[in-house]
Amino acid sequence: MKRQKPLIAISSCLLGENIRYNGGHCRENWIYSELSKFVDFHPVCPELAMGLGVPREEIHLFRTTRKDNEVKLRSKFTKEELTQTAYITYESIEDDLKNLDIDGHIFTRKSPTCGPDNVKTITLDDPNYVNKSTGLYAGFIMDQFPNLPYIDNGRIKNIELRENFVKKIFSHFRFKQLNGTMRDLQLFHQMHKYAIMEHNQENMRTLGRIAANHEGLSAQKVYQIYFKLFMETISILPTRKNRLNACYHVFGYFKNDLGAGEKKALLNLMEDYQNGVSNYLTINSFLNVLTEAHQKAYLQDQYIFEPYPKELKLLKDIA
Ligand code: SF4
Repeated sequence: MKRQKPLIAISSCLLGENIRYNGGHCRENWIYSELSKFVDFHPVCPELAMGLGVPREEIHLFRTTRKDNEVKLRSKFTKEELTQTAYITYESIEDDLKNLDIDGHIFTRKSPTCGPDNVKTITLDDPNYVNKSTGLYAGFIMDQFPNLPYIDNGRIKNIELRENFVKKIFSHFRFKQLNGTMRDLQLFHQMHKYAIMEHNQENMRTLGRIAANHEGLSAQKVYQIYFKLFMETISILPTRKNRLNACYHVFGYFKNDLGAGEKKALLNLMEDYQNGVSNYLTINSFLNVLTEAHQKAYLQDQYIFEPYPKELKLLKDIA
């Protein structure tokens, strides 16, 4: 049965479970109270899955020497090497996540296990040398699921990064619902045309050529190539200039429908947005209203207007 909502793997402590080494949690309220209404969560605690209890001895990342590229994991005081056990556990979690076909992952920042970057890493032969690396589990997942949207509980507080992450997980979810035919992929591309243009117009065109498949590649191959570039493209944060460009393209559909006064009002709105006087939601909503008023079927299907449930109220804070 097809899923009704995106499924997001998440470090369990972010949902308020008391499973941190000290018996505490780090619940992230927006995730817990808002995002949870629109997605399903699959909580994961790799340290518990490794058999470490609660409370437990703290663990940390280390290198043997400054030149050593390999980052390992051990308990902080008893210095028990945990790297191998960790990787065996991660492989089993990976199998679960693949079977579940997740649409994203939310990690806990700075954790030696779940932190996607900036995790304190000591050097055994030079105690004064401390640098930063990726938590062992987060790095493993990012390697195994290269197109998967992810974020941590620090970045999710930033509204632009939060909005982009949510757009990515819903886009990922929609892509995974496709039936594997070229027709379905072409429809997907058509409906995301302006949503992609907000990120990069050139890539939008390239994606259109990939979906058109003039080379006659197998549908499976085309899906693979398209998906990789699609996810890379929508990971580029939209600039005001690119959002405006997409809006001008949408505006083009109303050339013959609007009177001079209406056109001027709309252009003034766009100018206000360009100059930072109004926000993006104003112009996006206005174009959406026009789309409905003039029954523009092609635009009614466009995900530029609602790339995720509007009740998440994300666009209102986007500059
Ligand atoms: S950060 Fe990761 S390993 Fe640590 S408690 Fe949270 S889920 Fe478990």
